[in-house]
Amino acid sequence: MPDPRLKTCLELCSTACRQDGDAQTQTLLELQRTLQALENEESRLPLASSEIDSDFEIWKHEPVITMDLAGYITGWNKGAQILFEYTADEAIGKHILFLYADEPADGNTAINELFLDHGSPLMEVRHRKKSGEPFRANLLLKHIHDENDEPVGLAAHLFEVADRLSAKERHRLHARIIEDSEEGIMITDIDNRIISVNSAFTRITGYTASESIGQTPDLLRSGVHSADFRSEVLAAMQGAGAWQGEIIGRRKNGELFPQSVSIGVVRDANNKITHSFSVFSDISILRATQDRMQQIVNFDALTNLPNRKLFHQLVEQSLSTARRNGQRGAMLVIDLNRFALVNDTLGHDVGDQLLCQVGQRFRDVLRDEDILARFGGDEFVVALFNIQKRENCDLVAEKLVESLEPPFVIETHSLHISASIGIALYPEDGLGTAALLRCADVALKRVQGDGKSSRLYFSPEMNARAQELWLLEGELRKALIGKELLLHYQPKVSLRNGRMVGAEALIRWSHPGRGMIPPKNFVPLAEETGLIFELGSWVLEETCRQIRIWLDAGLELVPIALNISARQFDNKLPERLQAAIERHGVPCGLLKLEITESLLVRGPEKVIPLMNKLVAFGFALALDDFGTGYSSLAYLKKFPITTLKIDRTFVTGVPGDENDCAIAQAIVTMGKQLRHEIVAEGVETLAQVTFLRKLGCDQLQGYLFSPPVGANEFEKMLREKRRLLLD
Ligand code: C2E
Ligand code: MG
Ligand code: MG
Repeated sequence: MPDPRLKTCLELCSTACRQDGDAQTQTLLELQRTLQALENEESRLPLASSEIDSDFEIWKHEPVITMDLAGYITGWNKGAQILFEYTADEAIGKHILFLYADEPADGNTAINELFLDHGSPLMEVRHRKKSGEPFRANLLLKHIHDENDEPVGLAAHLFEVADRLSAKERHRLHARIIEDSEEGIMITDIDNRIISVNSAFTRITGYTASESIGQTPDLLRSGVHSADFRSEVLAAMQGAGAWQGEIIGRRKNGELFPQSVSIGVVRDANNKITHSFSVFSDISILRATQDRMQQIVNFDALTNLPNRKLFHQLVEQSLSTARRNGQRGAMLVIDLNRFALVNDTLGHDVGDQLLCQVGQRFRDVLRDEDILARFGGDEFVVALFNIQKRENCDLVAEKLVESLEPPFVIETHSLHISASIGIALYPEDGLGTAALLRCADVALKRVQGDGKSSRLYFSPEMNARAQELWLLEGELRKALIGKELLLHYQPKVSLRNGRMVGAEALIRWSHPGRGMIPPKNFVPLAEETGLIFELGSWVLEETCRQIRIWLDAGLELVPIALNISARQFDNKLPERLQAAIERHGVPCGLLKLEITESLLVRGPEKVIPLMNKLVAFGFALALDDFGTGYSSLAYLKKFPITTLKIDRTFVTGVPGDENDCAIAQAIVTMGKQLRHEIVAEGVETLAQVTFLRKLGCDQLQGYLFSPPVGANEFEKMLREKRRLLLD
């Protein structure tokens, strides 16, 4: 009788074959322990086939092969015959390797050594049947000993791995897997009728099995796909080949949903299609997430318009079409004038709503194929690719501007806003998106700032200028740190006694390479770039420092006027001035401020209180360049100014030009009525002096008396107390 532990081994083997993972490892370890125990005991296995079957009842139907230590088969039972399809006659005497599907790496290795090398009595091998069919089997090996306990051979017991399940079990298992699958499964017959669906199908589509069986897959048809696409899918269902892709389906409740679908067919033994199946998953959540991501990445969250990134993509596409078809195009960069004012005064909520409404109005007046994007802030960009000539682009620009005309009603406010537009044309100004945007930007910078709706086309000269400005900006930053800036002082002369009664401080830039650069070449640039704040602070600091020096030197000083840019004119200006004069111990009566009408761009309701504050701090205000700006005579009455400066352009024409004379006269008359002191600037001739005196001007300023001079020269003039105007 064989050792009952062998039966245990067999059972453990069978169990291990059905298991996997940790459970299988545990079973195999237990098997190994049992075998080890057997190995350690004396045991002898028969060598001949007949002996196997008779002596090992329990192995009768299991394939067992015995062999000598070199691997030559010595015994072959019925089980082996059934499994390998070779008779005992065919097998005995052959080397065991003839049953292997794959040659062992070292074909000459004796099977005993293989066994010893493997280090375990159980190994998985691939065998081949007589018919050639390969199969996997677990091989349980055991030494056979002679009377002297010397190993004389090996007994191998085989378990086929593949056939672990009965056909019935397999069917049941497959059915379970289909039913429990997370993916919807639909099986159709040869007539394209649904014959089976799983529960995921019902969960995804809303149709129960009874509602769907007998129907065609059109039950889920969304109607969004083209006829071509549908015939491609149908062909796959009819066996044209496996198909994978995305299909929009329709649920029972009418809702459309995207699904990822695999389609295949089942064929019978004669290769005839019997069924087709589709396995699908609902990817609507995935798609929704993707869409959301797309939205975030490509669209401006506030206005829902394409953002800079998407704009570039869309324009690149349109440009490649335009290139192919020889089309013309235009890029319009739009900036809302004084938008910052809305944000500052009414808050960001109102600002945001205004931007949304502006975006909507722009979109409404554009065609569908025109690209509109928001690049952030109040900057919108339009790309047009259907224009034949410049006039068409004009029309679009006109429409955009006009769309802003009706007031925007936001909360309780009724707001007016205008826009500046810089335009670049394709292909004249640039061939790519970046080049066109740059040109349109350059044009925009040139047109911005007067507060009115206006537009300007790019021209190559602008580019040269833009580059120069860019260079200058960097240099000006350096100049502010280095000692390249200085102030010149130009006297103002009283018409009553011909003496200096004031002076104006005018900035100069002594550039190491370019020589003296006049303020008109860098002050506007400083305003544009925001450097005007640093520049203004420098002027203030330098003037106060110089006044202090002259005061300390005991000189009789006249008030010095500073020019203040519109951009510097903010809420903190009074405090900044106050701090500077306190720091240097300068009486505030010695500082005057020259401001211009361009201030009004910021809105009189904001500017006038600030002027009042400056006056309350003790600073006198002069309105510079009067007559050139907004001619906002209505506001003039409300401005708390002491002085009006008639702009040089009118002074130049007097007394010869009638118009200039009339204007100069009107300004003086009006100024007198408002009790302002009148200063005429740019006086170069005595004829002008005579005329201006007759008009009733109070002071004159100009080259006739003195050009702006450096601090040393000006100090000399102060000391000499010279009469600058002789009768
Ligand atoms: P502005 O304030 O109107 O200054 C008067 C300008 O007229 C000065 O030009 C002065 O040199 C010039 N000028 C004076 N008399 C005559 C004359 O008889 N004939 C002619 N042809 N010109 C005369 P400048 O110094 O080139 O300054 C130009 C403008 O730059 C100034 O106009 C002012 O708006 C601005 N600016 C100058 N310095 C500063 C500054 O420190 N800060 C700011 N924000 N702007 C400044
Ligand atoms: Mg001035
Ligand atoms: Mg002036």
